[in-house]
Amino acid sequence: MKYKKLNLLQCVRYGSIKWKIFACFAAFTLVILVLLWLFQVFMLDFFYRTIKVNEIQSSAQNIAQHIEDQDIETRLEGIAQNNQICIIVSDSLGNQIYSEDALSRCKIHWLSRWDLAVIFAGTIQRGGTYFEQFEDSSYNIEISGEHAVKDSDVPEAMIYAEIVTLSTGQNLLVLLNSTLSPVDSTVQTLRFQLTCVTIIMLILALLLALFLSKKISKPIVQINKAAKNLAKGDYGVRFQTEGYREIRELAETLNYAAHELGKVEKLQRDLVANISHDLRTPLTMIAGYSEVMRDIPGENTPENIQIIIDEATRLTSLVNDVLDLSKLQSGTLELSPEKFNLTKSVEEILQRYVKLTDYHISFSAQEEVIVNADKLKISQVVYNLINNALTYTGEDKCVMVEQILDAGKVRILVKDTGEGIPEDKLQDIWERYYKVDKAHKRAQIGTGLGLSIVKTILDLHGGAYGVESVEGVGSTFWFELDVVNRLQLTHEKD
Ligand code: ADP
Repeated sequence: MKYKKLNLLQCVRYGSIKWKIFACFAAFTLVILVLLWLFQVFMLDFFYRTIKVNEIQSSAQNIAQHIEDQDIETRLEGIAQNNQICIIVSDSLGNQIYSEDALSRCKIHWLSRWDLAVIFAGTIQRGGTYFEQFEDSSYNIEISGEHAVKDSDVPEAMIYAEIVTLSTGQNLLVLLNSTLSPVDSTVQTLRFQLTCVTIIMLILALLLALFLSKKISKPIVQINKAAKNLAKGDYGVRFQTEGYREIRELAETLNYAAHELGKVEKLQRDLVANISHDLRTPLTMIAGYSEVMRDIPGENTPENIQIIIDEATRLTSLVNDVLDLSKLQSGTLELSPEKFNLTKSVEEILQRYVKLTDYHISFSAQEEVIVNADKLKISQVVYNLINNALTYTGEDKCVMVEQILDAGKVRILVKDTGEGIPEDKLQDIWERYYKVDKAHKRAQIGTGLGLSIVKTILDLHGGAYGVESVEGVGSTFWFELDVVNRLQLTHEKD
């Protein structure tokens, strides 16, 4: 028995939600029931007596206040009927002036003139009021010092007397009698009822606790099971969104987390494949060309050396991208903002491209703008956007760069005439290692890191950015920075 009790206690303390809820319900029920027992059973008699005493006293005061009113008789009748009390108003000699009899077993109407006179005198002696409660079935009005009334079959009674002084100076005795019904049988009934209520409430508390705990704990158990699978690397796991709102929200968050983890894992797998592919190709080329140049003297041409340089550059840019991103995203890289001429900076970058490619790159700007930003990082953004535009633009080999000024902001747009990006992929392209179409030959060129670098740099600057793309028509990538100053164009740009 002792062992069992300990287990139950342990259950409540460390155990399942079911026992905790039940314990709370049971405790709450017990508190209510204890209060009910206390008030209804143990203190019923006390409350009943207090109320009755107050009632008889306030009736006497009511009569005293209105004793000289015209309608006093009607008032007395009303008080007697409403409160079930007997009333006698007499003078000092015991002559009854008013009398109301509302009780079948009234005790004061039996009193003689002499008794009333004695009570009058006794009340005056006691300071003007006199109260007595009779617990026996037969009782004396002690004030008279005599045996006033005898009856063997009476309920408990209360007598209250008060001396009232009229405006004429005459004193009157207001004598009231009220009965107290015995509460024993009521208490017994209540005790039985409360016992039944206690048992029913405890059973209900248990049932409710079982129901609630099932509703709460079942989804939690399921979530726990699914979370264990997630921890093992099963990112396809689904958390059931049922139960209460908080649990549903938790399941939704976990579903989202699982989805995101799955994406990251997939992207990282892809990255390893991409990077190893991207590293292997230039390395093979460099090794291949170098061997050819070493073994065949005639092959030591500037073109072949250029190929080796190009491939080495590609390798460098790949490694740089990876390093940049990891630095940017680990938060170790801090911005060094400075005021610089963005328009000029973009122009300089474009001039470098003009020398290197046979693509047509145009630039249009109405004014020169000064911005406060990290010049090097913003150049990197421009480079990345233009590199992408050059990579993905159409057969016409055209890339348009535009600068627009609007409400204190400068917006740089990089437009191409390529295949565009499907609507559902527009969000994803900003993620690390993401490439829209891996089967696409051109997509093999990049690492899927360029836009992620753009995003991180612009986030650090608090600048807006975005892309609009129409499939088959082209894409427009843009970003915005706050303008610090505007200058006249030194020469027309278009
Ligand atoms: P990548 O180095 O592969 O270009 P990015 O992060 O720069 O990586 O771009 C992510 C993906 O977004 C690209 O693989 C490509 O599919 C798509 N993308 C980026 N720029 C353009 C563009 N101008 N036109 C069409 N698709 C683009």
